[in-house]
Amino acid sequence: MAGDPFFQPVSGMDLPRFAGVPTFMRLPLVDFDHPRFADVQIALVGAPWDGGTTNRPGPRHGPRQLRDLSTMIRAKNGSTWVAPFELVNCADVGDVAPNPADLMDSLARMEAFYTRLKVAGVRPLTGGGDHLCTLPILRALAKDRPLGLIQFDSHTDLNDIYFGTGKYTHGTPFRRAMEEGLIDPKRYVLIGIRGSAYGREDWDYAEANGIRIIGIDEFHRRGVEDVMTEARAIVGDGETYVTYDIDFVDPTFAPGTGTPEVGGPNSWQALQVARALRGLNIVGADLVEVSPPFDQTGGTAWLGISLMFEMLCVMAERMAR
Ligand code: MN
Ligand code: MN
Repeated sequence: MAGDPFFQPVSGMDLPRFAGVPTFMRLPLVDFDHPRFADVQIALVGAPWDGGTTNRPGPRHGPRQLRDLSTMIRAKNGSTWVAPFELVNCADVGDVAPNPADLMDSLARMEAFYTRLKVAGVRPLTGGGDHLCTLPILRALAKDRPLGLIQFDSHTDLNDIYFGTGKYTHGTPFRRAMEEGLIDPKRYVLIGIRGSAYGREDWDYAEANGIRIIGIDEFHRRGVEDVMTEARAIVGDGETYVTYDIDFVDPTFAPGTGTPEVGGPNSWQALQVARALRGLNIVGADLVEVSPPFDQTGGTAWLGISLMFEMLCVMAERMAR
C-alpha cells in the first residue's frame, strides 16, 4: 500500500493520551460515508445496546467506556510483537445505532449494519453491548454458510425461553443462532462455563447437538495451552467467529459485568486464551458484557479493551499473510 498508508492511531508521543476525542485505540473515525471507507479492512464497532439483559443492565454504556480506556493502548503488542496497524487497515467505524425502545427493531438495525460491513469485505471487531448483540452479527456474517464459533463465557447462553415468551435475551443468542443454521455445531466450542444453574437443559442441548463445552474445572485442570490446542482443532482452518464475554474472567479481575461467576481465569489467562487464537481464520470477533455502572475503577473496561487488542492482533496477522 505504498503511497496509501494504513490509518494510524494518534501516538501518545504526539498528543497526550488524556487529550483528544476518544475513538477506539485512537484510530481515525471512518464511517460508511467517509471517502476512505472502502480502504477499511478491520472495523472497530461499538454496539451500545443491552436490551437482552435479564438482570443487571449497563453494557449499553460499554462502547463509550471501552473507547475512553482504549486511549491507553499502544501500537505494538509487547508479548507477540505483532503491530496490527502496520499489517492491515483498521479504523473505528462508529456505533451501530440500536432502538432502545424496540428489541426486534434493534436486532434488525444491527443485522443491517453488519451486513453493510460484510458486503464491503470488512471484518468487524465489536465492543458491546450485551451478549444478544452477537446474534444479529452472526445473522449478517453467517447468512450464506454456518461459521465455526469459539465462545469464552461463564454461561452457555444456549437457553431456550425466558419467562415463558422471551426468545431474545442475552441468555439465548446461541440457541437462536443454532436454530437459524448460523453455527456449525461440530465447529463450536464453549470455554469457561461455570456457576450455579437453573438446570442441565443447556448442557444436554449442547451434547445432543455435538457442541463441545469445556467447563471451568476441566479448564483449570488442563490449563490454557492444552485447552486451546483442542479449541483450535475443533474450529480448524475454516471461517470462525470469536465471541468473548468478559464474565469469562474471574470477577476479581472483571467485576464490572452484569452476571459475574467466581472461580474463573485470571487476567493473564484471559489474555493467553486470546493470544492462542493466533493463525485462525477469524472473520469477526466481539467483546461483550462490560457494564460501566458496575465497573467502579474502569478496570473491567481496561481488561476488555486489552482483550480486543489481542484479538485485533491475531486477526491482522492472519489477514496480512
Ligand atoms: Mn456470561
Ligand atoms: Mn454470554
